[in-house]
Amino acid sequence: MSATITTAIILAAGRGTRLRNTWPDLPKGFVEIDGEPLIERSLRLLSQAGITRMVIVAGYKAEAYEALAARRTGVEVILNTEYAATESMASLARALDIVDDDFLLLESDLFYEPRALRTLLDSAEPDSLLASAPTGATDEVWIDAPEAKLRRLSKRRNEIDDPAGEFVGILRISRALGRRMHADYRAFVETKGHGRMAYETEALVGAAVEHPVHVEVVPDLLWGEVDYESHYHRLVDEVVPELARRSAAPRFERRVLLNPGPATTSDTVKQALVMPDVCPREEEFCQRVADVRRRLAAVAGDPAEVTAIPVVGSGTTALEATLVSFVPDEGEVIFVENGDYGTRLIEMAKTYGIAHSVVAPGWGVPVDPDELARVMSERAGRATHLFFVHHETSSGLLNPLDGLARLGHEHGLCVMVDAMSSYGVLDVPVGGAGDASTADVIVASANKCIQGMAGLAFAIARRSVVEDARGVTPRSFVLNLVAEYDHLERTGQSRFTLPPQVLSALQQALIEFEEEGLAGRRARYDRSMQTLVAGLRELDFELLLEDDVQSGILVAIREPAAAWYDFDSLHDAMYAEGFTIYPGKAGAEPTFRLSVLGAISSTDIEGFLAALRRYLDRVR
Ligand code: PLP
Ligand code: MG
Ligand code: MG
Repeated sequence: MSATITTAIILAAGRGTRLRNTWPDLPKGFVEIDGEPLIERSLRLLSQAGITRMVIVAGYKAEAYEALAARRTGVEVILNTEYAATESMASLARALDIVDDDFLLLESDLFYEPRALRTLLDSAEPDSLLASAPTGATDEVWIDAPEAKLRRLSKRRNEIDDPAGEFVGILRISRALGRRMHADYRAFVETKGHGRMAYETEALVGAAVEHPVHVEVVPDLLWGEVDYESHYHRLVDEVVPELARRSAAPRFERRVLLNPGPATTSDTVKQALVMPDVCPREEEFCQRVADVRRRLAAVAGDPAEVTAIPVVGSGTTALEATLVSFVPDEGEVIFVENGDYGTRLIEMAKTYGIAHSVVAPGWGVPVDPDELARVMSERAGRATHLFFVHHETSSGLLNPLDGLARLGHEHGLCVMVDAMSSYGVLDVPVGGAGDASTADVIVASANKCIQGMAGLAFAIARRSVVEDARGVTPRSFVLNLVAEYDHLERTGQSRFTLPPQVLSALQQALIEFEEEGLAGRRARYDRSMQTLVAGLRELDFELLLEDDVQSGILVAIREPAAAWYDFDSLHDAMYAEGFTIYPGKAGAEPTFRLSVLGAISSTDIEGFLAALRRYLDRVR
């Protein structure tokens, strides 16, 4: 870590000739943005960042800066009286006559976010300059920096192959580099007989050959300079409003949840919870409900044929609603039981006295299609529905949706699928009538792979399935998806209160899903899972299931039989580092579980593996 920086030099001598007709009377630093002159804002942010000595090099209308310095502490003004005949390095050299320290260097006509300063002050690099992604502001200076080390600066975009970013005009310069630039400038004046040297494109780039200058890229940095009137309007119309929007948004400590939902959400999904109050009976809210329903349905099928019915509650609520709403009075359900979630569905059927039979290959064991077909044939004429769990989150086992759906349809059954922990990342199609390999109904919740908040779940059904269930005698008043569908279609409202904030977060999550795409999300989860499994194997952990039946979303890991192993202590150690791990279900053998679902990436998984390695080094 390099020394604390307490000095800043601000280059403010220039005339700003390109703004001559707009602000004729004052230097550019006095252009006001949001009621505050640029220079005042800059000085304020510098003092907030711990800078105690601010050296302004003034020239044109220097008296304006002198008046400012007289009102403030820590601000010195020195003059480059030859500003018209020299260039920016002449001004910097004046400052370097009196500054013999590491310093921040800034141009006077900048508007920037506070983190611009923090980024450089926190940098481990003694010499660094700030860069952003292209702003499109015009008059850009492009940075050529192979391996993030400055090689060249140019206003001509085509002179640089692959720019590292756009030069902002805020730098951190060590005493050594400052002295070097100073010496180079004196030599330049000596040979050329004039001081027309630019501090950045000439002095800095020259000195960087021997004093590597690191390029610190903050892609989404909000900033702008004011050389032209259009620059001013860009600041006022775009940069300032965006900065206000961003600073009003709450920020969050990052936590990586490796439990299978409620998952890590994006900050934008969390922020969507904070919204103006709205009565759920208002048209505005009904439109949001309709939009969310359409987007939910579109993940699984064609919204013209397929409808999403939201249910307030957890995923189990929507599963129960599905079971009790769509199975006719004399109906009978065939369940697949190869994990805890399959068992739960059967418990529900028992609770309601719904006739059923069970194909139970065993916990974590894939279902044998022949056995399933045998039971279906045996129940022919009585069975009406097949209900199975797509991704058995208890073990990570994936039951093949297309294969089982096809079997069900061959036997004339309506196919209902618990797609709780696969919807949003695996293909969970709900097809039209006669579409053999798709489901008729799927059920999922807002807080798993679709990456929204807990509190809402939904069934996505072919509309004809809902129509066909009209004759079912209601088994529940609340959990009645037919009544709910009718009311939503007729009035746009739920019969009960939908939570506006959770719905707003789900809408944002769906927008983000659409931006990433199903394939993109799948690829991200795959990368995370590959990283996770490789890391676990390297650390001698064993997975419970064979690779070919894994969902790729969650893995169950055999609990090591070693004396050092204790789930709670492992959990607490990981939790303290920001990673939440999950216990196993009482299945075939003791396991713990890790899931990659949620707004996390393989980088987070690498962070987790590093924390795990540190823990194992300690306990093993
Ligand atoms: N079904 C499956 C496959 C699940 O993974 C879960 C939760 O993890 C549920 C049902 C139950 O969901 P909830 O806890 O939201 O009621
Ligand atoms: Mg410029
Ligand atoms: Mg400028």
